[in-house]
Amino acid sequence: MSSMDSLSQIPGLGTKTLEKLAKLNIKNPLDLLYHFPHRYLDFSRITSIKNANDSETITITGQVTSFRNIFTRTGKNLQKAAVADKTGSINLIWFNQPYLSTTIRVGDVLSFAGTVTIYQGKPTIIAPEYGQYSTGSIIAVYPETAKLSSKWFRKTIQSQLGPLTQNIKETLPPAILNRYHLPHLHQALYQIHSPINQQNLDSARLRLALDEILSIQSQSYLQKAQWLKKTPQKILVADKTINGQINQLIKSLPFQLTPSQAKVWTEIKTDLLATDKPTNRLLQGDVGSGKTVVAVLAAYLNSLNHHLTLYLSPTEILTRQHFQTFTKILKPTGVPLYLMTSSSHLQLDKIEDHAIILSTHAALYQKDKIKDRLGLLIIDEQHKFGVAQRSSIQNPLHPPHCLTMTATPIPRTIFLTILGHLDLSTIESPPKNRLPVKTFLVPNFKRPNCYAWIKDQISRHHSQAFIVCPFIEQSESFQTVKSAIKEFDHLSKNIFPDLRLGLIHSQTKDKDKVISDFQVQKLDILVTTPIIEVGIDIPNASIIIIQSADRFGLAQLHQLRGRVGRGNAQSYCYLFTESTDDKTTKRLEYLQTHHHGLQIAEYDLKIRGPGETFSTLQHGFPSLKLADLSDTKLISLGQLIIKDLIANFPAFDLKTLITATATSITTAN
Ligand code: ADP
Ligand code: MG
Repeated sequence: MSSMDSLSQIPGLGTKTLEKLAKLNIKNPLDLLYHFPHRYLDFSRITSIKNANDSETITITGQVTSFRNIFTRTGKNLQKAAVADKTGSINLIWFNQPYLSTTIRVGDVLSFAGTVTIYQGKPTIIAPEYGQYSTGSIIAVYPETAKLSSKWFRKTIQSQLGPLTQNIKETLPPAILNRYHLPHLHQALYQIHSPINQQNLDSARLRLALDEILSIQSQSYLQKAQWLKKTPQKILVADKTINGQINQLIKSLPFQLTPSQAKVWTEIKTDLLATDKPTNRLLQGDVGSGKTVVAVLAAYLNSLNHHLTLYLSPTEILTRQHFQTFTKILKPTGVPLYLMTSSSHLQLDKIEDHAIILSTHAALYQKDKIKDRLGLLIIDEQHKFGVAQRSSIQNPLHPPHCLTMTATPIPRTIFLTILGHLDLSTIESPPKNRLPVKTFLVPNFKRPNCYAWIKDQISRHHSQAFIVCPFIEQSESFQTVKSAIKEFDHLSKNIFPDLRLGLIHSQTKDKDKVISDFQVQKLDILVTTPIIEVGIDIPNASIIIIQSADRFGLAQLHQLRGRVGRGNAQSYCYLFTESTDDKTTKRLEYLQTHHHGLQIAEYDLKIRGPGETFSTLQHGFPSLKLADLSDTKLISLGQLIIKDLIANFPAFDLKTLITATATSITTAN
């Protein structure tokens, strides 16, 4: 058996097929080998035909009692067969496969598998997989794409498993395979395509999923090891005087730090004072958990050491708001603060070494004027900044200390994989016992009641409300999506003619004016796009309506909901949707009873996958074929193995675990 270097070596594989495969990104034998079945038909479990229930996926074995080729008036044709076992009979239907008449003949005993539907009043399997399978076999089913059938893949891959796996080398030491009861890679690849039994299939899938996780984890580990070789651009100290000044500032705050805030501050401070490695820490905390003041303390410590701090926020609104907060807290200290946006004409080479710059990405255009003076880089809502943008301001060998902050709660499993190179601090609980925002999924017919209730709240209690719409303009593809502009017109004219409404979206010219009008209660209702998602703090706003809520992920809805419930009043969140889909309803209803950001993100991760849940995170998510990033067991196993390899196999090079499947990850630093 010889090995294979090119797909064209497979007998009978012509140019046309090669082109089709290329469309699926299958360009070489390894790609083909790693093109895995997406499900299996288990012929070891045969159902009696009389037990075939609607919408069940089953496998039956029986004798074909009829087969007909039928031509419809519209020029289509379909194949209709019936098959019977001792218990009963069931219909089978295929579309446009006339050649089936040569492979399925009346009298044949065959197995069929597929999902039962009721068609013309009778239980029917549409387009079943079929074959002459011995009881006990498990048949791989491949996604049918680019006009290549599952059968084609099965036949081609299974007949070539020898040559395809010839060059496959085991990536893990034998001792590790033994210790964790893992099959050899070679065997796993055989068994995933052509399993002997369920148990072998399970362990093959575990092994190959684990390989994907190990690939990401070793990448993160190596990234961290790389970072640990760097030294901080500026060394910070906290002597008696400096500690005194910091304590003074903490005492001057209008509130006491919560134990959670005190804990994360200690962690961050310890990092900032380390001389051997630059800080690379993520500060995670639910919306409103009080991250800003922690950032102020970090910036102050850096300033007291006469080094420059750059605080980057994703939007202008947010930058201004942070500038206000920093000004309020730091006023008594005299630390120079600068606000920088695309419209400011700040010359960054002119500013003092101990200054704090609060900026949108505008500061990055003058990065060379500040790069070497930076002691601390703070990035708020990091996911809005590109990796390249961010590293452009860091000297590669001696980066400034770096603190990133996120309100998108990130499940632990994600940390142990993709973000494994970062240190993590979490603010567990909010400052005060805030009342959870009462959340309701509002069916269409109840909207008028909801509007009436809001009108009443605003006129009687001077409440304020946000109304969030997914897009600015009516998008043609989403007929039902409410556009902010249209919605604003409609609401002002027809629903709330007596109230004062404002409109803000990414193209609004003077955003500050609108926001400040809302802040000083010159407006009752602010109609907006998700631009308000991050960080806007308007304590008097106690109502939020989210239109087309089904268009948002739960984590994002939770963020939006966090715009209210910041004051002392009970707050309300109304989720509007045109969707009547059960799954959507169930997903949205989850928010009615859940208020813990991390839990919500974990749930979202489970049902929608990481790409959807964290689509805004800059970290690209590898397209994993088998591994599930919410699978705690799998991810812990990966951790364990990496640790074991590092501790007990000093000659082992983790790089060898990095496979093509996960090379698409691009993490910052
Ligand atoms: P986030 O974590 O979302 O950035 P902020 O830093 O904006 O949250 O804080 C939310 C609100 O909580 C602010 O109005 C802030 O002044 C207030 N806050 C922060 N820490 C405390 C505390 N320890 N006690 C009371 N209020 C606090
Ligand atoms: Mg914030």
